[in-house]
Amino acid sequence: MASALSAPHFHNEDAAFAFVEARVWPQGPTCPHCGGVERISKMGGKSTRLGLYKCYQCRKPFTVRLGTIFEASHVPLHIWLQAMYLIAGSKKGISSNQLHRTLGVTLKTAWFMSHRIREAMRSNDLMPFGSDGGAVEVDETYIGFKKGRGPMPGGHAHKMAVLALVDRNSGQVRSFSIENTRAEDIHPIVRANIAREARLMTDEARMYGKIGKEFAEHGKVLHGIGQYVKGDVYTNTVEGNFSIFKRGMRGIYQWCAEKHLHRYLAEFDFRYNNREATGCNDSDRADRLLAGVIGKRLTYKSAFARA
Ligand SMILES: [Zn+2]
Repeated sequence: MASALSAPHFHNEDAAFAFVEARVWPQGPTCPHCGGVERISKMGGKSTRLGLYKCYQCRKPFTVRLGTIFEASHVPLHIWLQAMYLIAGSKKGISSNQLHRTLGVTLKTAWFMSHRIREAMRSNDLMPFGSDGGAVEVDETYIGFKKGRGPMPGGHAHKMAVLALVDRNSGQVRSFSIENTRAEDIHPIVRANIAREARLMTDEARMYGKIGKEFAEHGKVLHGIGQYVKGDVYTNTVEGNFSIFKRGMRGIYQWCAEKHLHRYLAEFDFRYNNREATGCNDSDRADRLLAGVIGKRLTYKSAFARA
């Protein structure tokens, strides 16, 4: 069996461009400036940049990197593809430090690449969960610490909050970084992401009481009295997902700043939603990740901007 990393697009820059072009432009080159698909020529010649095209509609040059997470990066495309393969394929994530040592890029570059790759992992799927009348589990949890806050006795005000939804029939998860776990933090997300036909599954927490009436059914397990399963009413799937996230965040990333939390959530959601059990292997996962690179530019400035 050949090493997964022996494919030419991981080593050869020409092959890397061809590989990315075939996936970003399945119908042929598209001008990222004007959206044109006609009168586009590939530029040749020794002094020409690799993968350079010219659009004769708007007369502007471009490569496949423009308008993607690869834009304005000096890292060769084949190194990007290695990084994406490693992040998409490692079960619990991969630290910037590890990426820096494996790929031979600086730590700062590795950190920035991994945040851009997390942007590519962010789902654009707006289809509400439970549209088929199936069960949708909802739960919230607390992780890490907010900026400048260490461990404190009692309460959760000093911790970061996460809300997650699991569509039990499709086995997909959507997680959100939330300010707090009040009704006003949770209700808009629940309304926007869950169909009215759905059977909502939560614990007895107060903030689900009223909104539960907006759905076809609201099943509640009473965690306070040790009840975890009542027929098919349970929140074990979403809780299992939280434990994968917490293990990875503690073990690999040693937690993160709140302003980056949504990107780590996107990474873990992506890996969960494209897991082996859904028939997705490592190379499918890397391909799906590549499909997400478009329109996810993240500038150095915005990545470091204060939340
Ligand atoms: Zn154009």
